[in-house]
Amino acid sequence: MIKDQHIKDPDVILIGSGIISATLGVVLKQLDPSITIQLYEASEHLSSEASNAWHNAGTGHAGLCELSYTPNYGEDGDVDVSKAIEIFQQFEHSLQLWAYAATKGIIKNTKNCINLIPHLSLAYGQEQVDFLSSRYRKMSQHHFFKDMEFTQDRDTIRQWAPLILEGRGQEPVAMTRVSQGTDVNFGAIASQMIEWLREQEGCGSVTQHRVTNLSEMDDGWKVEISNLYEGTKFTNTAAFVFIGAGGGSLPLLQNSGIDEAKGLGGFPIGGQWLVSKNPKLVNQHTAKIYGMSPGAAPTMAVPHLDTRIIDGEKSLLFGPYAAWTTKFLHAQGSYFDLPNSIRSDNIISLIKVGIQNFPLVRYLIQQGSQSMNTRLKELKNFYPDACHKDWQLIDAGIRVQAIKKEDGDAGIVHFGTEVITNSNKNLSALLGASPGASVSTSIIIDILKECFAEKLKNAHCKENLLKMIPTYNEDLSMPHMAERQLQINKQSMRSLNLV
Ligand SMILES: Cc1cc2nc3c(=O)[nH]c(=O)nc-3n(C[C@H](O)[C@H](O)[C@H](O)COP(=O)(O)OP(=O)(O)OC[C@H]3O[C@@H](n4cnc5c(N)ncnc54)[C@H](O)[C@@H]3O)c2cc1C
Repeated sequence: MIKDQHIKDPDVILIGSGIISATLGVVLKQLDPSITIQLYEASEHLSSEASNAWHNAGTGHAGLCELSYTPNYGEDGDVDVSKAIEIFQQFEHSLQLWAYAATKGIIKNTKNCINLIPHLSLAYGQEQVDFLSSRYRKMSQHHFFKDMEFTQDRDTIRQWAPLILEGRGQEPVAMTRVSQGTDVNFGAIASQMIEWLREQEGCGSVTQHRVTNLSEMDDGWKVEISNLYEGTKFTNTAAFVFIGAGGGSLPLLQNSGIDEAKGLGGFPIGGQWLVSKNPKLVNQHTAKIYGMSPGAAPTMAVPHLDTRIIDGEKSLLFGPYAAWTTKFLHAQGSYFDLPNSIRSDNIISLIKVGIQNFPLVRYLIQQGSQSMNTRLKELKNFYPDACHKDWQLIDAGIRVQAIKKEDGDAGIVHFGTEVITNSNKNLSALLGASPGASVSTSIIIDILKECFAEKLKNAHCKENLLKMIPTYNEDLSMPHMAERQLQINKQSMRSLNLV
């Protein structure tokens, strides 16, 4: 158990030690050094759920290679690139904050946190190749993606990603490539941030402490906590509470009793990866390659073949294979999480989701129970010569996607991230997963604007925010901002030792 310092009645209580709570903690402390913060983590180790490097793909989502961010392929070949532009800009915010954290010694070991890995997209078969070609034409017109390359030339593909052509027939193949993509260990960033935070005056963090209940008072929140190590219970209070508990956020939101949580439900999606550490393969592949969604797969189950660098070791990861689960968390979850989340205010939405998303549920059950040979078949779309003996199946993280009851939304699973804030602006929570970790800084900017608006009016705090995220209030996607974006990006890359 990590227990350095415990702060009684702090200004802010953070629940969970993933990348989102860690980011909020660091940004608030840098914004206003007088603020007091206490963080509670239920697990024994910091940042060991969705933010842990093996539980996510570690893609620094910047819209460079993810084909699901560029939909609307019509007859006229038009591709909508607005989502990719939005994600790129949000990832720039994260790069800026991490660069600031590195220069301040908050992130001590950048190599453990972020590395350059080219981001590629793969198309095979004429229809996919035509799509990728249209997408490239549209994207490369924008200054964010001007360095994107496109090829159908097999020699070039062989240079970029030799495994893709091993054993492949003569079907048309095409790829795009951006060399400035990243592989990110979000868990390492989060834990380094929290380690820094708990050394600060007026801040503390403890593991093996599960928050069990929240009740609103006149001037903030009373938080009930179970010390899992000692088997004791106690309470603490704070003016502001952030529920950054990942899969554990929904039950806490429901316990809080805020109106905004009424009708909310959660739809958990488990995941698995194939991992190879065979040096023969690992040394031949240095790229994150995203393909197209197979059939009924939800956007987050679009397959990719990734180089990962975790604790200095290179490996290959393929997936994710989605899976049906009723757990909301790996370590601290239970198979009763889903049934326990059913309330009178969300049961109709949950039933509607079950009915309207039956193909998705069937897909998840089928994916989770497929044989290794079937899994290998999917991998072979990327690497046709893949052999069973080189790959091992491991668990990925669980995403608990939000289900809302508002008119028009009922029965829909929301595959993005959702920030829920109460009307008193003294409690916020994050639901959902992708592309959460990459856009964690943008999520925190939104929370600051909504819940800490008074602080942002203070000239000193505003100045501090600009030091951390210089472009937080600018639109870098505008054509006249191309030069500024390039200059700030270079600065971030330098501070993160990426150039
Ligand atoms: C399969 C998969 C692949 C992904 N790939 C990517 C990717 O490539 N790029 C990307 O940007 N994002 C990716 N994501 C999303 C990313 O992992 C998440 O958005 C991000 O890690 C969420 O961070 P978090 O801080 O919200 O939650 P978490 O990291 O899950 O942290 C929540 C913490 O809260 C703790 N907790 C829970 N309940 C309580 C409680 N009651 N009291 C105290 N503590 C509690 C948990 O133990 C946990 O440590 C992926 C996710 C999955 C599942």
